[in-house]
Amino acid sequence: MNIELLLKQHVGGPCNPIVKEGEEVKKGQLVAEPNGLGANIHSSVYGKVVEITEDRIVIELDKEQSEEYVRIKDTDDNLEAIKEAGIVGAGGAGFPTHIKYNADLDGGYVIANAAECEPNLKHNIKVIEENPEIVIRGIKYVMEISNASKGYIAIKAKNEKAVKVLEKLCEREKDIEVKFLPNMYPAGDERVIVRELLGVELKPGQLPLEAKSIISNVETLKNVVLAIEERKPVITKDITLAGRIKDAHDGRVILDVPIGMPIVNYIEECGRYVEPHGEIVLGGPFTGRHGEENTPVSKTLGGILVGMPFPNETRKIGVLECECGAQKDRLKEIAEGMGGEVVASTRCKRMTEVDGRYRCDLPGICPGQAEKVLSLKKQGAEVIITGTCED
Ligand code: SF4
Repeated sequence: MNIELLLKQHVGGPCNPIVKEGEEVKKGQLVAEPNGLGANIHSSVYGKVVEITEDRIVIELDKEQSEEYVRIKDTDDNLEAIKEAGIVGAGGAGFPTHIKYNADLDGGYVIANAAECEPNLKHNIKVIEENPEIVIRGIKYVMEISNASKGYIAIKAKNEKAVKVLEKLCEREKDIEVKFLPNMYPAGDERVIVRELLGVELKPGQLPLEAKSIISNVETLKNVVLAIEERKPVITKDITLAGRIKDAHDGRVILDVPIGMPIVNYIEECGRYVEPHGEIVLGGPFTGRHGEENTPVSKTLGGILVGMPFPNETRKIGVLECECGAQKDRLKEIAEGMGGEVVASTRCKRMTEVDGRYRCDLPGICPGQAEKVLSLKKQGAEVIITGTCED
């Protein structure tokens, strides 16, 4: 059996492999380094490199696999440990964490993002329920690194069990508090979190740093603690399976799966498909993308969802995109999957262009889209597919 380590699992360019075909590798061994912006990549298994292509390293697994792993180098510098471990934003963004944390917040805020706002995903909340201390310790490390004076955990009140365990722990933490997010999508957007927790309205394109804050996903904080306390590189990922999979219909979490494993392994572990089934979606329903059974687990993969077969829709289709939801290419892919022809496209009226990219003015405070729907109809659309959060 083989695993495939993608050379680009982060914001930035692909990493450069530092191993050769035929070389034996150990679990935790560094196998690729960034070339500019990026993060280290380590082997998640014991095995032999059988192929290196432009975008991946293929490793054949040894029969015997041990829990032991090669530790990252010892250092007193926690930011250096985070860099060595190859940590990136595990919520899906994939921004290299050592660069994000390299800031002086001057008494500002570190916020753990526990919104997990894409429907069906549950792995962040599961980590909190099972090991809330790791989130608190992660916040403390990042507060120390970035010179922050206050830590918050941003979570939805509906996650009662997770909220309860966190609130209990926070009773003895004078500088860390639980704060609630509204139960909507996209509550986990960084600008929404800054607005809801700190009352600061960031403009499109502005980062949380402008509000003296760093926001980090729960699993990223878990990886920070493992790197600092156990010298562990990022070699596993937490995932949720859901949808038309037999034993995962309402969402099943599997923690710590080796990066690089084909996702079909976990679909099989959950009893394979409920038939008829349709597309595999990687990520959440709003921002997920098309996947295949042999797609490897990466540092940013959270959800493995299986949908219904696409309905047959041969009428003319208009697509309406949202910055925080599905965008034009994905909506077109869905339309084509249904057998339809896209005749017109537009975007939510709150999307404005900043530095060549369309961004939302007010994420989560969504307008009606009647005017956009009428314009798509005028251009010949008989049905509309929308990626907008509301409406
Ligand atoms: S305002 Fe528009 S672009 Fe922004 S989140 Fe809502 S639907 Fe999406």
